Amino acid sequence: MSNYKEFHRRSIDQRDEFWAEQAQLVDWHKPAEQICDFSKPPFVKWFKGGETNLCYNAVDRHAAKRPDDRALVYISTETNEEKVYSFAELQREVERMAAIYQDLGVKRGDRVLIYMPMIAEAAFAMLACARIGAIHSVVFGGFAAGSLATRIDDAKPVLMVSSDAGMRNGKPVPYKHLVDEACKLAEFPPAKVLIVDRGLDKGFPKVESRDVDYAELRAKHIDAKVPVTWLESSEPSYILYTSGTTGKPKGVQRDTGGYTVALAASMKHIFTGGSGETMFSTSDIGWVVGHSYIIYGPLIAGMATIMYEGTPLRPDAGIWWQIVEKYKVSVMFSAPTAVRVLKKQDPAFLKKYDLSSLKHLFLAGEPLDETSHKWIMSELGIPVIDNYWQTETGWPMLAIVRGVEDSKIKLGSPAFPVYGYDLRIFREDGSECGPNEKGIVGIVPPLPPGCLSTVWGQDERFVSTYFSLFTDPVVYSSSDWGIKDENGYHTILGRMDDVINVAGHRLGTREIEEAVQTHPAIAEVAVVGVHDELKGQMPMAFAVVKDASTVDTAEKRAALEKEVMKKVDESLGAIARPARVHFINGLPKTRSGKMLRRSIQALAEGRDAGDLTTIDDPTTLDQIKAALAG
Ligand code: ATP
Ligand code: MG
Repeated sequence: MSNYKEFHRRSIDQRDEFWAEQAQLVDWHKPAEQICDFSKPPFVKWFKGGETNLCYNAVDRHAAKRPDDRALVYISTETNEEKVYSFAELQREVERMAAIYQDLGVKRGDRVLIYMPMIAEAAFAMLACARIGAIHSVVFGGFAAGSLATRIDDAKPVLMVSSDAGMRNGKPVPYKHLVDEACKLAEFPPAKVLIVDRGLDKGFPKVESRDVDYAELRAKHIDAKVPVTWLESSEPSYILYTSGTTGKPKGVQRDTGGYTVALAASMKHIFTGGSGETMFSTSDIGWVVGHSYIIYGPLIAGMATIMYEGTPLRPDAGIWWQIVEKYKVSVMFSAPTAVRVLKKQDPAFLKKYDLSSLKHLFLAGEPLDETSHKWIMSELGIPVIDNYWQTETGWPMLAIVRGVEDSKIKLGSPAFPVYGYDLRIFREDGSECGPNEKGIVGIVPPLPPGCLSTVWGQDERFVSTYFSLFTDPVVYSSSDWGIKDENGYHTILGRMDDVINVAGHRLGTREIEEAVQTHPAIAEVAVVGVHDELKGQMPMAFAVVKDASTVDTAEKRAALEKEVMKKVDESLGAIARPARVHFINGLPKTRSGKMLRRSIQALAEGRDAGDLTTIDDPTTLDQIKAALAG
């Protein structure tokens, strides 16, 4: 048996022993009395009775041993700033922020809503919450006032931390403005709003009795010493709303001890990063990747972490690689969407910099098609690890666990269940699928450390959303559709609700998208099922080409459409052939880069596009409408 198989089996069969070992990667104020309390399924308490602190593990313990080592590197290509904080400096800034919180009346268990751009102060704000046992709820900066207001009302924060403005593509995006609007819309607005004034929006409005200035309060607390508050392992560390791709976002509640251990273990076994190394995650603090792998994970491991405010294309498509060279980044984390964006750029940018420090690149968030996987791996010449997980789980569920065994990469597959996850593929009746049989990706509980403990304030919703698909056995449902091959490699086929049913054949959106992507002219594609009288549903494709000149006449479009259909015929058979392949300039995605297939489908069926609060570029919908009309 391979090393990894053995490792995974032990994590399930000798669960408590396994996690007791992993818990040693973390500093405890008081050790756990019980490793796993699963007496009230599906709720689980990890490291019961243990006392620890996320901020202590991320900052203080390193500051004590290696005060001058790099901890946080803030880079903005929007304002052209760059600043490096050592562990000692980071600790001082976090203590100042914690003192400001205390000054403003924030107590253990209170919520602090953080609505901020990717600036260093956002990291201080999160870590300061963790330090004093306040619960942060980071809302992606750039969500409209309405989305922000619903999250305010769900979390009921005593304090909000924000900024005058963010910057996107060189233009200021007002934040404070939106905060004011959201506070008006909300039923439970916070008593205080702390503003980090970047000087980007000179005349931003102020509310006298409520708004306080960060620079002023920081000066007041410049010498502050704020000891960490030791928390019982199950006390919440934060609330984070899911991306909202499929509707009303759910407030994922994370614990303290389990999360700290899960992240520490993942840094060792999955990401293989440690002291003296640098991690660069291109995500945003508003998403789960930002929480786990921009802020907490790398810092817990003693790595320096990069906080990047900017796009992958400004000043040019080489910017990420320039950062990798300059800071000798060894571990990088990004999303498939970004790879598809880079694919449309001049490949010379990837060869311009010394990337020899880079050990591997991790990609998650959407299916990584084989073509893009192969392309980025050969361009970079390093392993590119597809990993599958959710806001709910907080860390990877499927991946190659390179720190344990350097298993072979299968293109387009996030590989194996990660240790701790008893992940299996189920039929709709609750029985287990055989190899190469499509089904629902589920986890036999208990969920491992680090996963959501409940839905904030709604225990029933936790049970009904995630544990009610079948009653025997009770299983956590991911709501994703997947398959496992005879060698144990998994593939995610799309979301369960997006499955296309053509004359009784069930096809994941991913399968057809994968086939379309194999055509060299295609950069990106979304496939949806459209109602059909005869067949039930018919697939319809919306594709973006790499080079616009390949579809600039009606003849060229018709020819390419035929070629694309042929590709699908060849790999899946005529049954999966899209009824139409429309060519457009961009696809509707969420702000986190996820395809809004549900909205595309609605338009294709002549319905309203639905909830668009999370859409990045609404003009993409007009293009779809135009393509459908033409
Ligand atoms: P909501 O649950 O509110 O609709 P969301 O599911 O988009 O939002 P996230 O938790 O950010 O919010 O996304 C998790 C989902 O992203 C997974 O359930 C899966 O559908 C998709 N996903 C993540 N990683 C991968 C991957 N490596 N391959 C395929 N799909 C992935
Ligand atoms: Mg989801």
